[in-house]
Amino acid sequence: MQKQSGWKQKSKEDIREIFRFCEGYKSFLDRAKTERESARYIGDYLAKNGFSEDHSGERVFRVNRGKEVIAFRRGEKDPADGLRIIVAHVDAPRLDLKQNPVYEDVDLALLRTHYYGGIKKYQWVAIPLALHGVVIRADGTTVEIALGESDDDPVFLIDDLLPHLSRKAQDEKKLSEAIEGEKLIVLFGSIPLAGAEKDAIKEAVLGILKDRYGITEEDFISAELEIVPAFKARDVGIDRSMVGAYGQDDRASAFGLLKAICEGAAPRQSCLAIFTDKEEVGSEGNTSVRSNFLQIFLYDVLSGMGIKTDEAFIRRMLYSSKALSADVNGAVNPTFQDVHEKQNACFLGRGVCISKFTGHLGKSGASDANAEYVGEIRRLFDRGGVIWQTGEMGRVDEGGGGTVAKFLAAYGMDIIDCGVPLLTMHSPYEISSKVDIYEACRAFQIFFRS
Ligand SMILES: [Zn+2]
Repeated sequence: MQKQSGWKQKSKEDIREIFRFCEGYKSFLDRAKTERESARYIGDYLAKNGFSEDHSGERVFRVNRGKEVIAFRRGEKDPADGLRIIVAHVDAPRLDLKQNPVYEDVDLALLRTHYYGGIKKYQWVAIPLALHGVVIRADGTTVEIALGESDDDPVFLIDDLLPHLSRKAQDEKKLSEAIEGEKLIVLFGSIPLAGAEKDAIKEAVLGILKDRYGITEEDFISAELEIVPAFKARDVGIDRSMVGAYGQDDRASAFGLLKAICEGAAPRQSCLAIFTDKEEVGSEGNTSVRSNFLQIFLYDVLSGMGIKTDEAFIRRMLYSSKALSADVNGAVNPTFQDVHEKQNACFLGRGVCISKFTGHLGKSGASDANAEYVGEIRRLFDRGGVIWQTGEMGRVDEGGGGTVAKFLAAYGMDIIDCGVPLLTMHSPYEISSKVDIYEACRAFQIFFRS
């Protein structure tokens, strides 16, 4: 029953193709470090591939508030028979600036943050960080910021304590308590403003922000500024078989999905690619998969096709649909193998991973795909020659996790989790295998053509 390394099944020619594919993947990761940047990249890519916001077309897409994208491809069959849906998310764990972030202390200008999603706080100190996001000025105009990515940009950093002084303050504490959330404070500047009496360093950095971006301290109130790792996506390993980058959960799926929805001839069933936001915080909010955006989009698309549609029609169509919840999974960690039950875990390099269920503590809080549907996906992937494996997240009662699968399952459709295994998942620098990235895209293409 144990699957083998996917690389074993690949020729030299295949490996060249996989590496070429992953050059595109790395450049996507470098240009899409936030949900907004991902949505823009995806929207631009769709537009270049014949998708438009005109609802009467064969290829339609719409962007929800700059953070979420849905793309539709009309198939040969009646949409009432159901759609082929794949959903991936484009948000990733990060540090958001607070709405009143700037202060000065011990001759330093500093920024306060509030972390977003599941992070291990100790991983965010003493690494180069970049600042990305938008600020809505008092007059309603928007300014975009992306600082820390190009080689001559400054970067930012959260200080850590030197080992000489950390014994009581950190070393004797639990790992999860050694760095507290309120201590994730970003170093932002240190030259005082000449002639200023009070808070001269804070005044100086605010002056730079005013000159460069035209923003004031109060404008942070209406800003979404995200601190993300300043690392670039790189090959990992002497054989270059892996990719190291921030945000591969879940942009690994988003990239393959974007390629899959664009490529190939007209599908049999109509296809839907959902690039959603806010998965990392439980899919709450108006850019999450739980907002009504999906139904409104479908209503408009079906009306554009000349189909007389109403809420009941859309509900029946979603009930008859089949879906993949494309999200990453934790691969067996070479040095902490005990947290996995290896007979049912996924491994780096063994292909795209399907998970019948997620959740924790007795499958709680998750969608559990029906055996019939698992069988269907299994046959589909085998017929298409996809390299795939199965895996659940960790040993029973070890922890666990969830995806958006349960929110789409609530519409009654068949859905199963399917994505690439990662090492160092949810860290500032996640590791994937190039063969898994490639096979995930192939799996999505084959699913859309089914
Ligand atoms: Zn995820």
